[in-house]
Amino acid sequence: MSHLLFILILGILTFNYLFGLMLDYLDSTRWSNQLPQALVGIYDIEKYRKAQDYEKTNTRFSLWTGALSFLSMLLMLLLGGFAWLDEFVRGYSQQPIWMALLFFAILGLASDLLAMPFSIYHTFVIEQKFGMNTTTPRTYILDKIKSWLLAGVLGGGILAFVVWIYGATGSWFWIIAWGSLTGFSLFMSLFYSNLIVPLFNKQKPLEAGELRDAIQAFASLTGFKLKNVFVIDGSKRSLKANAYFTGFGPKKRIVLYDTLISKLSTQEIVAVLAHEIGHYKKKHIIYGMLTSILSSGFILYILSLCIGMPDISAALGATLPSFHIGIIAFSMLYSPISMIVGIAGSYVSRRNEYAADRFAAQHHQGEALKSGLIKLSVLNLSNLQPHPFTVLVSYSHPTLLQRIEALETDRS
Ligand SMILES: [Zn+2]
Repeated sequence: MSHLLFILILGILTFNYLFGLMLDYLDSTRWSNQLPQALVGIYDIEKYRKAQDYEKTNTRFSLWTGALSFLSMLLMLLLGGFAWLDEFVRGYSQQPIWMALLFFAILGLASDLLAMPFSIYHTFVIEQKFGMNTTTPRTYILDKIKSWLLAGVLGGGILAFVVWIYGATGSWFWIIAWGSLTGFSLFMSLFYSNLIVPLFNKQKPLEAGELRDAIQAFASLTGFKLKNVFVIDGSKRSLKANAYFTGFGPKKRIVLYDTLISKLSTQEIVAVLAHEIGHYKKKHIIYGMLTSILSSGFILYILSLCIGMPDISAALGATLPSFHIGIIAFSMLYSPISMIVGIAGSYVSRRNEYAADRFAAQHHQGEALKSGLIKLSVLNLSNLQPHPFTVLVSYSHPTLLQRIEALETDRS
């Protein structure tokens, strides 16, 4: 049985890798120097070529990183690396919580260090070349240290808690873990902006003036209680621009990147914001939260069925079953299910994006949204022509062309 599971894990790993390669290949068949017909006259040809160039460079880069991570995972499996690490941590402690903490700390640190040269190359060579990078080496190093500490404290805390629950409650494990993790994630979505974001960025309330007046006017027109509009210093790391919605109830806030404010007109920013308010008004946020709570319950339930099976740990070559080895094997065996769930999730997300666009066009201006989306696409060097199959399986947002087309069909 453990032998079969091992082969299944190898098969899944290989399938995932080849599937990713296939998506890259499909996208590359759409590369062209010709501006799509629908964008002629509204999209600068030079900027289009730059975005295409960026896409090609990133695809070639991800061929290397993808191959490296596939090979290192394959070697870990074939040479029994996970079992070896399991033996190693057992030499230091027999206590399940400490074993799990040590096991994942080593694994996490090793994979992060392995990926680091590539991430440095991506930021300081590729992003730099395309004029997107504003990260200084100092910011990069500080970010690394902070994210390691955060992973240690939060990730380590959650892991220790889950292993403890598992040891203490056995068959009730998944319900208690589910309840506590749901409570924790609700707490985090309320306080994320206050607790986590300030570690990495500065946020300040949007200054009084034309833009704030326009935003307030729009919010009150749609009956949206909006006290918190914040500006975040996204330009500290990149010139890419964005806006997002966070928190709920009285803690809800809209966050605009400073890069967005400097490049878009007032009406375009209000349109982007109207889109975000659209998500809220159409209850996408609340449904999204409910879905993720339900799916984490499902995962924990399946996990509770598998984790204690000696065959699961034995599949990775470990002689003794353990929580940490079980998690690794489980996450690989579960990945086809999570791929299917992900595809369904992307479909729902794209549908919600159209609905939020429609809301912005109805309550504000379709034209301003359209020109705002075009500017955002230029700023972010977004891929204008991914293959439809790639969009189907992995895009959370419709492409710029699809969104423009939908805005125009709605209007006529
Ligand atoms: Zn959206």
